[in-house]
Amino acid sequence: MSGPAADLDSRIRAEVDRSREEVTETRRELHKHPELSLQERATAELAARRSTELGFTVRSGIGGTGVVADLDSGKPGPTLMLRADMDALPIVERGDGRVVTSAVDGVMHACGHDGHVAMALGAASALVALRDSWAGRVRLCFQPAEETASGAMPMIEEGAAEGVDRVLGIHLWAPLQTGRVAVKSGVIFGSADSFSVTIQGRGGHGGMPHTAIDPVVVTAQVILAIQAIISRETSPFSPAVITIGRVTAGTAFNVIADSAELLGTTRAIDATERERLLTRVAEIATAVASGYGAEATFWRGSGCPPVVSDPATADLVRRAAEATVGEDHVDIAVPLTVGDDVACFLERAPGCYFLVGAGHPERGPVPPHHSAYFDIDEAALPVGVETLVRASLDVLR
Ligand SMILES: [Zn+2]
Ligand SMILES: [Zn+2]
Repeated sequence: MSGPAADLDSRIRAEVDRSREEVTETRRELHKHPELSLQERATAELAARRSTELGFTVRSGIGGTGVVADLDSGKPGPTLMLRADMDALPIVERGDGRVVTSAVDGVMHACGHDGHVAMALGAASALVALRDSWAGRVRLCFQPAEETASGAMPMIEEGAAEGVDRVLGIHLWAPLQTGRVAVKSGVIFGSADSFSVTIQGRGGHGGMPHTAIDPVVVTAQVILAIQAIISRETSPFSPAVITIGRVTAGTAFNVIADSAELLGTTRAIDATERERLLTRVAEIATAVASGYGAEATFWRGSGCPPVVSDPATADLVRRAAEATVGEDHVDIAVPLTVGDDVACFLERAPGCYFLVGAGHPERGPVPPHHSAYFDIDEAALPVGVETLVRASLDVLR
């Protein structure tokens, strides 16, 4: 590399170095003050304030606590969205050796979204400094409520995706070591839906079950029966999951409950499978319940489609990652049955969602995302910023 390309390359590195400390500080500030889905007021305020300071035109309160910040280069070109989710989880943080801990009891950034906001602001700051080398517009999208898959759609309904030509987003990924980036064309995360089923029986005396319809026994049968949707109806080559995460029924050991409720989630890599899983859960729950004289009612909750990256953008991100960490450190991501409602933005404009390794190399096996012991390696943050900046400059050339 020589001439203008080499010059830009060293300017990118200098900007990433310059922003390193601030990005880390921002991540720590957010980690210390985590906020639950749709309550991200201080986080949104920080994102809005920093974006304004960088010269972006900011709109707050988009789809709840969402923030949209635009910067126009003044030169004709595409509009690129950099999307970062902001919410934390209702988890009591545990574990030693953290550089920063949550100051809010029972709330924790256990998925790395603190880092996502910090990296987006870091990339924005570098793009402002490199303003002479790109055309078009940059839109920062700070999204609430990713964890409940209910933040993207309200933002879209209020215009957040309007005029957007390309979308880029990062998920920090602790199972992947720091210094590695994983990119994949096509599906990277599966769909994620929630549902509930109410089983209406007829309560009675625990000693005289023949005079009642026991919803607990029906619930047990429903739970087992719906697992056969995965084991007997779904191709082993199409990953899918049904999990019942909560079961509630009853008041006492000797009382047959009147009704029971199940809450669950379905995950699928394939969009058609997504719909089929939900339909079959409803059908089987209804049929099993009626077999026992009970009645099942199915409700579909919030959800999002699979996260799909467009091949051209994935290719561009792969090249950006290679320039950042070297060819040997870029992996092809394996699709995962976790969800992310960045999918809703990616349905409206082509783009790429990719994984930036954040696993401490010396700490051994990393606690999973959403674990009370989850932690990220902050050395991952500049890797994310640099990859994002390089990919953005390629989109906005
Ligand atoms: Zn999460
Ligand atoms: Zn997440």
